[in-house]
Amino acid sequence: LSEKLQNVFKKLKSKGVLTEDDVKEAMKEVKRALLEADVNFKVVKNFIKTVTEKAVGEEVMKGLNPGQMVIKIVRDEMTSLMGSEVSEIKLLPSNEVTIIMMCGLQGAGKTTTVAKLAGQYKNKGRKPLLVACDVYRPAAIKQLEINGEKVGVPVFSMGTANKPRDIVKAALSHAQKNDINLMFIDTAGRLHIDEGMMQELQEIKETVPVNYTILTVDSMTGQDSVNVATTFNDQIGIDGVILTKLDGDTRGGAALSIKAVTGKPILYAGMGEKLTDLELFYPERMASRILGMGDVESLIEKAQEAIDEEQARKVEEKIRKATFDFNDFLDQLDQMNKMGGLSSLIGMLPGMGKLKNVEIDENAMNKPKAIIYSMTMEERTNPDILNVSRKNRIAKGAGVDIAEVNRFIKQFEESRKMMKQMSGIMGKKKKRGMLP
Ligand code: GDP
Ligand code: MG
Repeated sequence: LSEKLQNVFKKLKSKGVLTEDDVKEAMKEVKRALLEADVNFKVVKNFIKTVTEKAVGEEVMKGLNPGQMVIKIVRDEMTSLMGSEVSEIKLLPSNEVTIIMMCGLQGAGKTTTVAKLAGQYKNKGRKPLLVACDVYRPAAIKQLEINGEKVGVPVFSMGTANKPRDIVKAALSHAQKNDINLMFIDTAGRLHIDEGMMQELQEIKETVPVNYTILTVDSMTGQDSVNVATTFNDQIGIDGVILTKLDGDTRGGAALSIKAVTGKPILYAGMGEKLTDLELFYPERMASRILGMGDVESLIEKAQEAIDEEQARKVEEKIRKATFDFNDFLDQLDQMNKMGGLSSLIGMLPGMGKLKNVEIDENAMNKPKAIIYSMTMEERTNPDILNVSRKNRIAKGAGVDIAEVNRFIKQFEESRKMMKQMSGIMGKKKKRGMLP
């Protein structure tokens, strides 16, 4: 999804207010990309409608180009589709037993996820208990016991001979006697939704006061996950969803669809097989991840703060006319500093997150700065008058030798020449209709 969307947005380079044509063209691609990412059809339809309504006629924010503006709107809308805020499980006071029932299809990740959760709550000072209610497969009980041991949480089991409703009843009284205040019920799944499974879950709910029914959904199942979530919600009522195997899912279709279709929040994301691989679900981060954009939000915010559109326009104008002088150069350096310097900018660029640890010499620009500061106003605006004696004076003032000054001025002249050529080429292409 990410690459697709980014390609679409690259096409949007025209300036000013977003036109209907701009948005329509982009939305066609967004729609196709979302469907390919296995997002539910109805969700896609509504999504496109909302985003189109919001985007057409929208003024492009300062510091953004139209493409970035559309990305911002798409991303904001995705975030709200996934619930906007982090949803947390509300536990009863610690002198009562909070009961959490985990349900879902076979292989969705119930047994793994209850252990992950129990481990996290144990670390927060709760006293959890894992209850083995998958009575159809002895291996399932063994698996829960192994997981429980790994996270240091006791497991309550009565083998395979009892009914789940009897097991949970016994488990609750065991919990009350043993100072336990958080009970996780690991239930049996089936390959497909069936009556027997639903009945069993109902019975558990009728026997003990379940506070949270959580559905584990395998995010790799895409569209199917929506049907599963809808059926579970309709038949037994769920309070939240945990999306598992998000580490392997690059499409994000399930995450986008489930909250929209069931209205139930996504609580956590399973990010791997290890019992520590469970994270709170952040809709905003997920939206960025789906779009593959790095920490775009903060990039956009910083751009808004720092860049005055008017100033940017002036610089562009100067480059085109090749009147860009040393003062403009200083302004550009200042703007870059306002945005947190080179390394922080690079870290926020899409796909550049990995470069975060690369060292960037923030001081590389100090010498050029010192050289410019040592020039008179006249010299800054009119670099052509720089003769040997002036250069000597500047070198002394900046504390560098004259060779350094010469090199810098030469570089500056070179880039000015290049800018002029580039704007010449762009101008011609524009006339021939090769550029927007
Ligand atoms: P259950 O049948 O619903 O109890 O599912 P399990 O907990 O037994 O998990 C089924 C398989 O999925 C196991 O091999 C788990 O290790 C794996 N699994 C569960 N959660 C995750 C996850 O978040 N990421 C990955 N990569 N694997 C997971
Ligand atoms: Mg299981």
